Amino acid sequence: MTRHLLRMAVTAAATLILIAGLGPSAVFADAPDPVLGPAWPQDMTLEFRWASGGVPPAAIRTAMLEGAADATASRASRAPSFAFDAAAANDAAYGLAMPCASNAIACAYRAVPTGFDVWLRENGHKYDWGTLRWCEVTGFAAGCFSAETLMLDELGHVDGLAHHVNLPDESDYTDSVVQAGSHAKPQAGWNASAFGVCDTATLQTMYDVPSWSTPYSSCLDIPATLTLSMTPAGAASGTVTLGAAFRATDGGRLNGNPLSGRRVVLQLRTGLDWTDAGVMAGAPTAGNYTLSVLVRPGTDYRAVYRATASEGLRSTASAVITSGGTCTGVCPLGPTPARPAVTLGRGR
Ligand SMILES: [Zn+2]
Repeated sequence: MTRHLLRMAVTAAATLILIAGLGPSAVFADAPDPVLGPAWPQDMTLEFRWASGGVPPAAIRTAMLEGAADATASRASRAPSFAFDAAAANDAAYGLAMPCASNAIACAYRAVPTGFDVWLRENGHKYDWGTLRWCEVTGFAAGCFSAETLMLDELGHVDGLAHHVNLPDESDYTDSVVQAGSHAKPQAGWNASAFGVCDTATLQTMYDVPSWSTPYSSCLDIPATLTLSMTPAGAASGTVTLGAAFRATDGGRLNGNPLSGRRVVLQLRTGLDWTDAGVMAGAPTAGNYTLSVLVRPGTDYRAVYRATASEGLRSTASAVITSGGTCTGVCPLGPTPARPAVTLGRGR
């Protein structure tokens, strides 16, 4: 019962914008966080100071600075980084009269591109459900909240994330820090010190990734294309170079990105099956891969990317290209079979 009451009461960080703007639209379970509002410029540093009259006690200051460092370290994107600067224009406040909902333990305000503020209620604040206790202040074994995690949640809102939509059983709760109901110690995720995969998923689609080899959050499901070519084209013998270009084809700012650092495999058709001929090496041009082989005459080739559990990038195969000449030995048989999906299954 305690947990229920806390979850009902602790609508942490309903931002001013969120209160007004977040309807029930675009609700998908186990999906990237909904977008709260417009993005900041990429790679921006957002600075904050302690609010006049609302300076946190030392333990909370430390926790809030750690939360800011967590947001910067775990964004996996070109979302803003956060830094303390006593001369900053944006406030981090503790215990002041706050614009938060009356039952919130923290909240945030954002107004791109002019600024933002974050607030945490004071330790000991009385609610109809009980008394707020910050773990960093009290050292309680249970029933307290992490100011570090709440700061991370608030800065997720500042970045532009709305609350994650959990599965009915909340089995995906730890996929996101940006939660409508914050967990008290020792519930799952109460002390998260990094964005969850469904937080970084939205940050990546809003802000793009810092490099072409940065893995896409496993909370995403980004389609991609592989385009295969042979040089010299249509060769029947000798060494040929097969080149593949790998590109994302959806995902907001990820759309059209070259995909470097992935495992792209060249396959050739033998009978009705496809056989791996080798792993293609990364080429100097981002998203491009090459492999040189002794070509077999009249043989079908394709490039394949197999999805892994650690990245939200779909399996894909290129169109088939065929070498010149006439096949002898083990050759493709009959009409071209459908792509054998079993060899491309996610996680294989
Ligand atoms: Zn929140």
